[in-house]
Amino acid sequence: MTSNDTSRPTDPDCLFCKIVAGEIPATVVAATDQAVAFKDINPQAPLHVLVVPRAHHGDIAQLAAADPELLSGVVALADAVASEQADGQFRLIFNSGPRAGQSVFHVHGHVIGGKELGWTPA
Ligand code: IMP
Repeated sequence: MTSNDTSRPTDPDCLFCKIVAGEIPATVVAATDQAVAFKDINPQAPLHVLVVPRAHHGDIAQLAAADPELLSGVVALADAVASEQADGQFRLIFNSGPRAGQSVFHVHGHVIGGKELGWTPA
């Protein structure tokens, strides 16, 4: 783990840190000084956007413990994206741990919406 010029934790080997830095292309749909929202490359719904803090934290529990205000900013960005790109209703999923389906270990919320959603996850 290193820090960038604003003393934000970053990981040079992290895919989502590279997307935040613009080193890997992504379809960014919204951004704030705290967080970035970009389209998932394998969408599971008409609206499927990932919201990530610019700072590197491994999962949602680590982010909540380290910087609850930043977590709040991530949720606010998810809400804004759902309002701009769909009808404002959304499911926000944070997979935490490999058995829960987490494959990228930079915390990200899946903003899912744009259709009637069933319950429950398989
Ligand atoms: P996880 O399985 O909850 O960790 O979610 C990781 C998500 O990242 C998956 O839904 C992938 O489709 C998505 N993903 C992986 N690489 C990229 C990328 O380069 N751009 C956008 N989304 C990606």
